[in-house]
Amino acid sequence: MDTKPLYDELVSYLRSRSIPDAAFDVRCMCEQVTGRRLEQLMTEGIPTEDENPLRNMAQRRAFGEPLQYILGEWEFYGMRMFVGRGVLIPRPDTETLVDLVLREYKGSHSLRIADLCTGSGCIALALQKHLPDANVTGIELSGEAISYARRNVGEHGLPVTLVQADVLDPGTAAGFSELDVLVSNPPYLTDEEMQHLQKEIRSEPETALAGGRDGLDFYRRITALWKHALRPSGRIAYETGEQQGADVSRILAENGLTEIRVVKDLAGHDRVVTGILPAQTFQETQPVTD
Ligand code: GLN
Repeated sequence: MDTKPLYDELVSYLRSRSIPDAAFDVRCMCEQVTGRRLEQLMTEGIPTEDENPLRNMAQRRAFGEPLQYILGEWEFYGMRMFVGRGVLIPRPDTETLVDLVLREYKGSHSLRIADLCTGSGCIALALQKHLPDANVTGIELSGEAISYARRNVGEHGLPVTLVQADVLDPGTAAGFSELDVLVSNPPYLTDEEMQHLQKEIRSEPETALAGGRDGLDFYRRITALWKHALRPSGRIAYETGEQQGADVSRILAENGLTEIRVVKDLAGHDRVVTGILPAQTFQETQPVTD
């Protein structure tokens, strides 16, 4: 059938339901269902059997389901990630965290890296791809989320290790030592922000978003527990909310980290906070006995 009338109908349907990027969303749906570019479909027509699946997708979108869940996949750091209900959708902002780590460690060998609250596994996979001989472990509590991470690890054929565990459990942290880099994009929205979520974000798992009253619970607890898993001169790098740069810097400082920096995302917002464990902090000073 002709593509143009169906395309126009779906775009105006989504617009009438106040979906902001209606044309982009319909393009993504058409291209995903058919495996062809929209421009090509406009000249060649669209297979009749694709009409109903497209109408169903548009209806889900009209009811506020995120485009990424409807497509079942989304791109992160140039890599395809499977996503769906139960896992946080990878955000472009999070690429700032990957960039920072790659900038600091590109060319380093045999790094030990842990990604806490790995979700879809997107950070762990992007780091593993660009640091091929690193030993990267992604840790995630949610069974639903880690099932996406497993699928993504399989899809990319990269040697990321996945562990289903609670990063706030001291027993989990105790299983790790001598880490060169600890990265995390933990839940960091405040109770107040959780009350005013955009409809699409309300479809995402609350456990991936809610960071307690001030949004800082995970930073406080992860830093206190996991600093002991770092090797001397090991690094922590967190994604943070744009208002949290100063608070998370203070948490790292209170835990004895140094060389603390806040890095901005492409929109110019504070997005990543990083610091280094000084070589001596947690080593007992041995009395000189000779
Ligand atoms: N950046 C996400 C948002 O604003 C929050 C992700 C998170 O809490 N780690 O929706």
